[in-house]
Amino acid sequence: MIEIKNLNKTFKTEVGTVEALKNINFTVEDGEIYGIIGMSGAGKSTLVRCINMIEKPTSGEVRIDDVDLTKLQDWQLRNIRRDVTMIFQSFNLLMQKNVRDNIELPLKFAGVNKKKSRKTVNELLELVGLGDKASAYPAQLSGGQRQRVAIARALATNPKVLLCDEATSALDPKTTGQILELIRDINKKLGITVVIITHQMSVVQSICDKVAIIDHGEIVERGKVSEIFANP
Ligand code: ADP
Ligand code: ADP
Repeated sequence: MIEIKNLNKTFKTEVGTVEALKNINFTVEDGEIYGIIGMSGAGKSTLVRCINMIEKPTSGEVRIDDVDLTKLQDWQLRNIRRDVTMIFQSFNLLMQKNVRDNIELPLKFAGVNKKKSRKTVNELLELVGLGDKASAYPAQLSGGQRQRVAIARALATNPKVLLCDEATSALDPKTTGQILELIRDINKKLGITVVIITHQMSVVQSICDKVAIIDHGEIVERGKVSEIFANP
C-alpha cells in the first residue's frame, strides 16, 4: 500500500519559490492501477518522483507498506528503488547496449549472478513479447518495442510498484493501447501496484481503477474512475 500524507514540495529558484505540490493526500491499495491526471505543469512528474524519492519532499510522508521513505537514509533508498521502479515517456534505454544488456543492468547492480540473471531476462523477454529481440539494439526497435524493453528492465528486480511517467505519450494510439494492455497484464499476472501519470483522459479511462486529478500542485478530485468520469 502507498500512502501519501500531507506532501509538500517547494522548489527554490533564482526567480523565487515554486510550490509544486501542496498538501497532497491519497492512498493506493495493493494491486490497484491508480491514475494521476493533470495538465502540463500541474506537478505530476514532481509527485511521481517523490514517490520513489528521486525528489525529496519538502514535508509530509511517503509510506510504502508502512515504511515512511522520507525518514530513510540514502543507502536504504537504493533498495527502495528496486521495489519501486519507473518507466518514462522517453524510454531512457542505453543506446549502446542491446535489449538483453539493457534489461540485465538492474540485476547486475543488485549483484545477481550471471546464470540467474540470464534466466530472469529470458522470462522477461517472453513476458513483454520480445523473445526474438534479445540481440537487437534500441535504434532497431519501434517506440512500442522500446517501451517494452523499458518495462522488462523495470520489472527485473521484481518490484512491488511500477511508476509510469507519461509512458505512452510518445506513442501512437494503437501502440498506446498495446502498451496499456501489457501494463494491465503485468498488474494482473504479477500483482504489481501501478501508478500512472498522464495528461490523457483516455489512458485513465482505459485501465485505471482510481484517479486523482491534480491542478496547480493540488489534488482537486479523486476516487473511482467509474464514478468521477461517469456520464451525467
Ligand atoms: P507536470 O509533470 O504536471 O508537467 P512538474 O511536476 O514537471 O509538472 O512541474 C510542476 C511545477 O514545478 C512547475 O511549475 C515546474 O516549473 C516546477 N518545477 C518542477 N521541477 C522543478 C525544478 N527542479 N526547479 C524548479 N521548479 C520546478
Ligand atoms: P510496434 O507496433 O510493435 O511498435 P511497428 O509496427 O511500429 O512495431 O514496427 C515494426 C518493425 O519496424 C519493428 O520490428 C522495428 O524493427 C521496425 N521499426 C519501427 N519503427 C522504427 C524506427 N523508428 N526505427 C527503426 N526501426 C523501426
